[in-house]
Amino acid sequence: MKTIVIRFPLTANDFQKVVRILQAGGLVAVPTETVYGLAANALDPKALQKIFEVKGRPQDNPLIVHVGDRWAVRKLVSEIPESAKLLMKKYWPGPLTIVFKKSPKIPDSVSAGLPTIAIRMPRHSLIRRLSQAAGFPLAAPSANVSGRPSSTTPEDILEDLGGKIDCVIDAGGSYYGIESTVIDVSGKIPILLRPGNISIEQLRATLGKVRIARGDSLRPKSPGMKYRHYAPKAKLIVIEGRKENITKKIQSMLNRGRGKKIGVLTVQHPRAYRHDCVKFIGATNNLIARYLFRALREMDRKGIELILAEGIPEKRSGHAIMNRLRKAAGYNVIKV
Ligand code: AMP
Ligand code: MG
Repeated sequence: MKTIVIRFPLTANDFQKVVRILQAGGLVAVPTETVYGLAANALDPKALQKIFEVKGRPQDNPLIVHVGDRWAVRKLVSEIPESAKLLMKKYWPGPLTIVFKKSPKIPDSVSAGLPTIAIRMPRHSLIRRLSQAAGFPLAAPSANVSGRPSSTTPEDILEDLGGKIDCVIDAGGSYYGIESTVIDVSGKIPILLRPGNISIEQLRATLGKVRIARGDSLRPKSPGMKYRHYAPKAKLIVIEGRKENITKKIQSMLNRGRGKKIGVLTVQHPRAYRHDCVKFIGATNNLIARYLFRALREMDRKGIELILAEGIPEKRSGHAIMNRLRKAAGYNVIKV
C-alpha cells in the first residue's frame, strides 16, 4: 500500500479525500494536540481490526474514541454522571479522556470487551471536523507500533507504519507530546488511569476526591497498564533523586562506560556533561513533555545502545512525564 502524505492545513479537496478514506474503512494518521492518532471509524469492526493489526496492538487493549462535539457522547454511553459533566465543561475540547459506562450498541473491539468506553473531544480542530464530516466518531490510538514511543512527528509515523496505512496528515511536531490524561468516572469515585497534561491536582480541584490507579501488571485497572510502553530500542535507565546527585551519578556512569554508545537526556543544559551525545530536552515540563518521545526516537536513529535520562520532580505534569519515562525504561530506575 502507498501511504499518502497530506500537508496541514488541508485544501477542501484533500479534506474530502480524507473523509472518503475514513468512510471506506481506511486508516489515517491525524494530528491531535497530544500525539498523532491513528484514526478509523469507531463503529466499523473491520476498520478497528486493521488498527490492531498494523499497530500489533494486543486485542485486549481498548481504543480511545474521539468525538467532534459534546452531543456525540450521548449515543456512545449508557449514562453521563455529574462528574463527567463537570469535566467535559471544564476540559473539553482538550487532552482529557473520560471513561464512561458504554452503550450496548458500541462494537466490542473498541472497548476490548469491557463494559466501558473511553472518549475524548480533542482541542485540535481537524480530527473533530473529520469526525463530523464523516458522520461517525473516530477510534484513534497513538500512531506508532505498539510498545514504541508514541509518534509526535510525521517521520515517526512513516518509520513505524509507512506502507501499512492509507494516509498521514503532516502538521509538524505535536504540541503536548504525551498522550491524554485518562480518568474513569464509571464507578463511585473517579480514578485517574493515566496521568497527562491535565494533572491530578487540577482534577481534584474540579471533582474533589480522585483516586490514582495503582494497578500493576497483574491487576491492571486499565488494560494498557499491562504492556511495555513507549520503549526505545536502546536500553534506557532513569536516574532519580537530587539534581546534584543525578549529575554526579550520570557523569560517573559515562566515565565508566567508555567504548559503549551512550546518550544522555538532560533537562539542565546541553553542556551539563563531559560527553559527546547529550540531548537537552528543555527545562520546563511543557518542553520536556513535547520533546521526550522525539528524543528517545532520535537516540535510536543514532544507534545509541544505552540512554541515561534525568528524573524530574513529579509535581503537576511532571507526574505524567515520569510515568512515561519509567515505563519507557521498563522501570529500570536508579535512585541517588
Ligand atoms: P493509546 O491508544 O495508546 O492512547 O492508549 C489508550 C489507553 O486508554 C490505554 O492505556 C487503554 O488501556 C486505555 N483505555 C481505553 N479504553 C479504556 C476503557 N474502556 N477502560 C479503561 N481504560 C481504557
Ligand atoms: Mg499508545
